[in-house]
Amino acid sequence: MKKSEFYDLLESIKEFRAPKSELEQYPTDSVTAADLLFSIQTEMGDSLSDRIVLDLGAGTGRLSLGSLIMDASHVFAVETDSDALEIFKENARMLNYEKHITLIQKNIEDSDASRHIQSVILQTLGWPEYNKAEILCIMNPPFGFVRKGIDIRFLEVAISLSGLVYSIHAAGDKNRAFIRSKVEKFGGRVTHIMPQKLVLRAQFHYHKQKRMPTLVDIYRIECL
Ligand code: SAH
Repeated sequence: MKKSEFYDLLESIKEFRAPKSELEQYPTDSVTAADLLFSIQTEMGDSLSDRIVLDLGAGTGRLSLGSLIMDASHVFAVETDSDALEIFKENARMLNYEKHITLIQKNIEDSDASRHIQSVILQTLGWPEYNKAEILCIMNPPFGFVRKGIDIRFLEVAISLSGLVYSIHAAGDKNRAFIRSKVEKFGGRVTHIMPQKLVLRAQFHYHKQKRMPTLVDIYRIECL
């Protein structure tokens, strides 16, 4: 598929109707999502084809559905907010991917989040035991601007459940050093950091501009 066609499909995905600032509900813009999912395959050589994808803080599903369009076999999408999940379901129906998605309503801050997600994956796939090497996590979690430390909690859960993680975080040298140290503590290894410009649309009252380009870093993390 051409990147422009892929972008058009991602653009058709509906975003949050009433975004919640306390949950840092910023959708990944379609350009960033298309760039990320394309570069995972072309630049990084990590095929999405037939992969099982885990999307933490899945929102209305742009990264989940984008992975399926890129031929992933199944997505486990975890999200705490039922309003976001309703829109996710509409998007999955519109693109005809309902059968390939398992939605898990769960707060990543819960102490049993990892265990709960793992048991849903085991049950759904009929695995006798958990095999994290088979799981590719692609996520754009909250950055921790509102709820301090939530980005690190997302990384902890992602690393515990996946063989490989792609994750979007706030840019900056200080944050890079901090994230690297936390990733190592959780048993992962940062292999690449790709700077990217995320375009946020104004959606909260304190936003002054209509579109705000925001620098982010995309991390590739090996976790085995
Ligand atoms: N991944 C989506 C949404 C990014 S916004 C996309 O790329 O478009 C971050 C998402 O994380 C929101 O949907 C928000 O509701 C969710 N979220 C925030 N805190 C959470 C928590 N503690 N547990 C699970 N999901 C959470």
